Amino acid sequence: RSPHVATPIETYLKSLHMSLSDVMAGEVASYIPELGLADPKKFGICIATVDGQLYSVGDAGCPFTIQSMSKPFMHGYALREHGQERVARQVGVEPTGDPFNSITLDDVNNRPFNPMVNAGAIAVAELMKGDNTSERTENMLDFFGQFAGRPLEIDEQVYRSEHATGHRNRAIAYMMLNTGMLSLPPEEVLETYFRQCSIRVTCRDMAVMAATLAAHGVNPLSGQRVLSPDHVRDVLSVMSTCGMYDYAGQWAFDVGLPAKSGVAGGVIAVIPGQLGIAVYSPPLDSVGNSIRGVAVCQKFAQDFSLHAYHDR
Ligand code: GLN
Repeated sequence: RSPHVATPIETYLKSLHMSLSDVMAGEVASYIPELGLADPKKFGICIATVDGQLYSVGDAGCPFTIQSMSKPFMHGYALREHGQERVARQVGVEPTGDPFNSITLDDVNNRPFNPMVNAGAIAVAELMKGDNTSERTENMLDFFGQFAGRPLEIDEQVYRSEHATGHRNRAIAYMMLNTGMLSLPPEEVLETYFRQCSIRVTCRDMAVMAATLAAHGVNPLSGQRVLSPDHVRDVLSVMSTCGMYDYAGQWAFDVGLPAKSGVAGGVIAVIPGQLGIAVYSPPLDSVGNSIRGVAVCQKFAQDFSLHAYHDR
């Protein structure tokens, strides 16, 4: 077997990884106790192209929980299974500028503002099909597996930790029961929400999932169509404006790519028609985005002039 010769993109990723490895700022999320156990030094980057090439560096195979990066995919699922009109009754598409766990609804429409904040994601979780928790979990894992191109599982420890401490999310769900937004019992909807957040992934999985969005809904590894191009457009639009919480405006300004972060330290960004990038690094900034994750995307977008409004 001939020795592996690094491609230019691998060389680039290596030096990007090295240049950010000693950034030590930020705190690992600990409000979900199990997440507090993460190793702050872990740092992985993976790029997946729409033609199925994968390039990774560092801890790209290290497992962590998807957390809020599940939200755009659940939105996609809801659109696929129920259509735009039904989903629009459940959740809006307005950025809030509020933190992800804000306990607010849009009082004109009585809906959560968008599917990227917890309230919106909980409302969307209700649309997972299945007659009971185990059917819904099975359907959800099957859908996420289609995006990742391999079967995925739930991290039971993280799930139990979320379930035991997620009282703020319970408050949000009960508020939506109060306004008539939820029809199922809140605890059942939360079962789906806590489980979706606890899906175990790697950077490699997330890059493939992001590349599936970049490929307008076709998984570049399996060739399977997971979402229609129209629904991918809807999902990416919301990611562009709401994906990074109260940092979304600055992100749009600096990076200009649809993206989503999660409190376990993952970030994905999508370059439509080209590739998906995923970063894993647990320490977070004050709004809950991975510090190195944001830095990688900023640098990558800059180095390759990827900003959506850049003159190419
Ligand atoms: N499970 C987390 C929560 O509900 C997800 C939040 C996030 O990743 N920002 O608080």
